[in-house]
Formats: sequence, structure tokens, C-alpha cells
Amino acid sequence: MRRKPATTLTEDQSSLLAARYPQWALLTLAERERAEHLITVFRRHTNFEILPGVKPTDDLEVTIAAAGALLILALPIDRIPHLSSVIVHPRSVNRRVVRNLGGLMVSESRSVLSGQAHHYGPVLISWRHALYEMNHPEIGRQVIIHELAHKLDMANAYDGTPPISADKRAEFIVARDNELARMRTGRDDGILDRYGATDVGEFFAVATERFFTDPIPMAEGLPDLYAAMADAFGQDTVGRLYQSPTRSGNG
Ligand SMILES: [Zn+2]
Repeated sequence: MRRKPATTLTEDQSSLLAARYPQWALLTLAERERAEHLITVFRRHTNFEILPGVKPTDDLEVTIAAAGALLILALPIDRIPHLSSVIVHPRSVNRRVVRNLGGLMVSESRSVLSGQAHHYGPVLISWRHALYEMNHPEIGRQVIIHELAHKLDMANAYDGTPPISADKRAEFIVARDNELARMRTGRDDGILDRYGATDVGEFFAVATERFFTDPIPMAEGLPDLYAAMADAFGQDTVGRLYQSPTRSGNG
């Protein structure tokens, strides 16, 4: 019998995360232990404001914190900088849409406002959107990951890159800008949500959604971008899918 991780999660919560995030079930034991540590840190430093219409539960907090844990799993930080508050709305977020106001705030409109991230301010999540997207990972979208990717991008400057070394940053920007330019010429292969063509920040958030939910289309269709994402995050999300199933499971 394989050793179980020193866990802070219940078995039900581990199963829930594996169902909601396909990558979660594929983490190695060491990755699971670090991810659970990151969830604990996330919850310790984050105020969750759950609005009427959403049931406040440990599972909800764990689900949101797990997205943050996945993003920074291999980065040399234990929490997403400047993230102290998450507001969870039951449905779409009804707010006036303000976009990229001096680089300090970004709003999502798409068809309705599904989330929002403020520099030095809260992240807003539409729980209905989050649940729908977690039930349909094949669409490659996930609003929680999207908004937390913005916060990660805002850690240094809101310039469409994660907090990585200068060398990696330069390589990442080349791959990102090549793909962004192609998107802006109208090419639509369905791999990345066209919302990503809005600006470099949205491109990074949209690419991060795809990378952590259903990454194979990116790896096959946009291999340079996939390689840059894998290098930036220090994770091979497609490689995990092809690993032996014995490294995954619930214990
Ligand atoms: Zn966005």
C-alpha cells in the first residue's frame, strides 16, 4: 500500500478536487502535500465573502484555494501576492464593467460578468460560472483560475506574465506575442477563447485556463505556447496526463 500524504483535506474533499480539477488527481504525492500546504496558507490569508445565494462551506473555500495552489505549485512562493479577499457571487457579477483602468483593475465581460480581479483588491467569482466550467473541463475555461491568474500577473506588473525570472520571462513573451498576433489576425482554432485577444493580460489568463483544465489541444495545436507555459509554471500538465495511473489516485 502506498503511503498517503500528510493531509489537511478530508477524503471527500480530495475526491471533490479531483472531480473539479482534472490535474489534481494526477499530482504526485509530493505535489499533493505541497498543494495542500498551499491551500492552508491561502485560506489563512484570504477573507471569503460569500454572498446570499451561495452556501458558505469549507468545500467552496477549498475549491477556490485549490485553484491558487495549482497555479503556484512549482513557483517559489507560498501565496499569490496581494490576494486577501475573494467575493463569491451566486450568479453573474452585476457590476459596471471597467476594463484595465490604469493597469490596476481588470473586469471580465464576455457575455456577462463572470469574475473580476482588482490590483490590491478582491477577486470576484461567479459561483454559477465556476461550477458550470468545472463540470465541463473540455471547454478549457475556468473563471477561478482566470481571475487568480490575473492576480498572479499583477504580482509584479500587470503585463501578461507570471512572476518568473527575467530569462524565462523573455522567452514567455516571445511565445505569447507570436500567438497573440495570430489570434488578432482572425485565426480561430478554438483552442483559446477569443477573449484572450483583448490584451496581453487577458491572453495570459485565458491561456492559463486552458493550460490547467484541458491542455492537450494547446500542446498539439500551439506547441511553442504550451512549452512556454510549462516552463513558466514549472509544470507539464499534458505530461501528467500520460503518466502511469499508479502515481495518481486518492491514496
Ligand atoms: Zn480576465
